[in-house]
Amino acid sequence: MKITYAAVVLLFVACNTASNKEESKQPANTDTSMSVKQETVKFTITMVDNKKDPSCGMPVQGGIEDTIHYNNKVIGFCSKDCKDAFMKDAAKNVAAVEWKK
Ligand SMILES: [Zn+2]
Repeated sequence: MKITYAAVVLLFVACNTASNKEESKQPANTDTSMSVKQETVKFTITMVDNKKDPSCGMPVQGGIEDTIHYNNKVIGFCSKDCKDAFMKDAAKNVAAVEWKK
């Protein structure tokens, strides 16, 4: 019985040590994901003048990955691809932009 108990205690201590190691790692991981989040959320819907991504039609509330300044307006896009698509013929595509009032 004593041997089993000792083994259980040893196992418990070993597990505890392992989980402590993981816990000490976690704050660093959280910091990384937080800084990544801050990078991703650098544009908010209040910063843009359009309601929808003019390239794909997605509402800007869904997330803005990139923006351009065009005729004193800020246009937000869900992705760089959408921005690039817009920029290929910006003069024509700007007509399709739904502006906020
Ligand atoms: Zn888009």
